[in-house]
Amino acid sequence: MIPAAFTYLRAHTSDEAFAHLQQYGAEARVLAGGQSLIPAMRFRLARPAVLVDINASSDLNVLRVNGNALAVGAIARDSDIERAPWITDRRWSLIRDVSRVVADPVVRQMGTVVGSLCHNDPAGDWTAASLAARAEVTVRGKDGARDVKIDDFLVDSFTTAVGEGEMALGVHFPVADDRTAGAYQKVERKVGDFATAAAAVQLSLNADGTIREAGVALSAAGPCAVRVDEAEQMLRGQRPSAELIRAAGDAASRRSAPQADLRGSVEYKKNLAGVLVVRALRQALSRLGVQA
Ligand SMILES: Cc1cc2nc3c(=O)[nH]c(=O)nc-3n(C[C@H](O)[C@H](O)[C@H](O)COP(=O)(O)OP(=O)(O)OC[C@H]3O[C@@H](n4cnc5c(N)ncnc54)[C@H](O)[C@@H]3O)c2cc1C
Repeated sequence: MIPAAFTYLRAHTSDEAFAHLQQYGAEARVLAGGQSLIPAMRFRLARPAVLVDINASSDLNVLRVNGNALAVGAIARDSDIERAPWITDRRWSLIRDVSRVVADPVVRQMGTVVGSLCHNDPAGDWTAASLAARAEVTVRGKDGARDVKIDDFLVDSFTTAVGEGEMALGVHFPVADDRTAGAYQKVERKVGDFATAAAAVQLSLNADGTIREAGVALSAAGPCAVRVDEAEQMLRGQRPSAELIRAAGDAASRRSAPQADLRGSVEYKKNLAGVLVVRALRQALSRLGVQA
């Protein structure tokens, strides 16, 4: 199918994009990579009267380690991250893992991290990773820009804290010290598919080898990505061990609330969520030189 008729506006700066969004309010949608929005329009699941294309807004083309955070602007592509020279540093191992498994290489060439967060698909990859990494999204509204913690940003399936006439400018991943590493484990039926289940983990260790901070989150485990608070709490302050990792995996299985579909039953997906958390924790620890 072809989309319903719409007015196309190309913004050359984020100011221009914002002005259009303010003018057209609920009628307008931001066009980033178009990998979710265009298919939705073709299926007539979305019928925006106005599309505000931000791809020429060069001030949003940001991808850099900036003071104490990795700054990812609204038109930085998944493929830009995958190829960034600093991505091999273990501090960014969670981000690197995700950048390699979102969709397929063709989609990653256009798709953006921020677009994915704004889309907030229940099985999206960047949402779970952003929870584990404790990211913050910068949202521009009529009172200026505000930083929104990812837990508050992801409101419900396909719903975020971006209000009418607003736009997301970028996402910030807090910079980690070098005793930090993460991992992303995803099971998909075939390359390019959304997750059957996926787990994101970020760990920081103290000098004595105990866990200082832990981020654990799941995708395809509910209406939107979920933080596994119970696992994070049990990991914090502890010395890594096989028993501790198993207990964190069990907590993830309990927290997972997936829907049965062609990819598997509820029981299978809950079990898989736990298995993937165990694998991701082991992988993150191994990247930190710890076998558990
Ligand atoms: C074949 C295929 C397979 C895929 N597989 C996966 C997968 O395995 N995992 C996964 O996570 N994703 C997957 N995707 C989705 C893909 O990653 C999308 O690119 C991503 O979800 C949306 O990013 P985008 O830049 O294309 O956003 P768009 O499609 O341009 O926008 C998506 C939504 O976000 C809004 N939006 C975008 N940017 C902003 C902004 N700056 N401010 C406010 N609103 C904004 C748009 O208005 C729209 O509502 C797949 C897509 C395809 C086509």
